[in-house]
Amino acid sequence: MSKNIQAIRGMNDCLPAQTPVWQKLEAILRDVVNRYGYSEIRMPIVEMTELFKRSIGEVTDIVEKEMYTFDDRNGDSLTLRPEGTASCVRAGNEHGLLYNQIQRLWYMGPMFRHERPQKGRYRQFHQFGVETFGMNGPDIDAEIIALTARMWQALGIKDEVRLEINSLGSNEERANYRDALVEFLKQHESLLDDDCRRRMLTNPLRVLDTKNASIQAILKDAPKLSDYFGEASKKHFSGLCERLDALGIQYQVNERLVRGLDYYNYTVFEWITESLGSQGTVCAGGRYDGLVEQLGGKATSAVGFAMGLERLVLMLETLNLTDDVRRPVDVYVVTLGEQAEIQAPAVIEQLRDELSDVRIQLNCGGGNFKKQFKKADKSGAEIALIFAEDEIANQSVSIKHLRKQQEQITLPLSQAAQAIAAEL
Ligand code: ATP
Ligand code: MG
Repeated sequence: MSKNIQAIRGMNDCLPAQTPVWQKLEAILRDVVNRYGYSEIRMPIVEMTELFKRSIGEVTDIVEKEMYTFDDRNGDSLTLRPEGTASCVRAGNEHGLLYNQIQRLWYMGPMFRHERPQKGRYRQFHQFGVETFGMNGPDIDAEIIALTARMWQALGIKDEVRLEINSLGSNEERANYRDALVEFLKQHESLLDDDCRRRMLTNPLRVLDTKNASIQAILKDAPKLSDYFGEASKKHFSGLCERLDALGIQYQVNERLVRGLDYYNYTVFEWITESLGSQGTVCAGGRYDGLVEQLGGKATSAVGFAMGLERLVLMLETLNLTDDVRRPVDVYVVTLGEQAEIQAPAVIEQLRDELSDVRIQLNCGGGNFKKQFKKADKSGAEIALIFAEDEIANQSVSIKHLRKQQEQITLPLSQAAQAIAAEL
């Protein structure tokens, strides 16, 4: 026998037992963005490698070590998208959606990063993201945070996540701060670990979110980014805080929150949970006013976020919030005898016409009553419809409850739809 081929490490199948949880999650997220007037955009999964290098930044974890990059048959360097923002901006520029316009967009789909697979961290994973364009005030920052808060509420996890926010200031302020920070880090270079020493040279702000506790202690005395803010930065951030206060959304200001991507300015935020262990960030975002221009468009304000769906599914499972997802079948149709087997499908097509919300599954592959009822039970259906010779001859159907003790009834076909609807 030949060896089974298995899925690629870190790329998961989503099996039928799990898809209802995903469908529920996706439906809730879609519903919320709809209620805020956002439109869906769908981008390709593969883009020119250059797009991600130019937007995410050459010296970020993603571009340095996580991208799936390959040459296609023409010799172009292509990359499986590691995130959605760059593609969304590329698409917006390409189709003239951004300049001088207001856009509120959302997308959902797979992303690819070559990371070490572990709980909550995979090589193919899924994000739901929002990107907005053309609005430069803290009002829209607050709106997208309010929208995520509503998602947590609808999913039943609002008490399990907390919000951290920070401001990265303008590009210029950040550049000034970077110099001061590097100065400080150089004075303490001997106490840094290899990772931080490397980041000090390539992407010094990332040193701030090191997990190394002794370095964190040193950083307590480091210069603060907020000390470099001018009036506009201060006003934007206090405007956001005021709006979150008015909305009743609680948050912590975390001055160490810098995010891994290069393109952010002003607002950054993360929603974090303690219920998943170390992979605790379920949603992350911020403002990226420079990116549209950086990718060749006309300067356009932008702010957005992305959330990791696997982490949300894990949360729903961990918190036992998956009980109410629907089984796929309401009604299972059992037939006995050749005529019944031939006639029943036409009858249930008519029932499907009349009962558009009811999921009806027909027994295929024959079998005696006992065998068919076993399958009916396994299907998860509430009731079984029975078509045997009598029923076919009399234009009737029998209805049997599969989940509760109740007498089986037989009624004319013309009353079947109404009776089924009443039973479910
Ligand atoms: P992390 O710090 O966990 O590596 P990140 O900063 O790289 O996250 P973003 O690029 O901001 O993450 O992506 C937004 C969200 O997508 C994350 O908060 C997380 O929920 C999810 N995510 C990111 N990488 C992965 C992955 N490899 N597997 C599963 N989910 C992921
Ligand atoms: Mg990462």
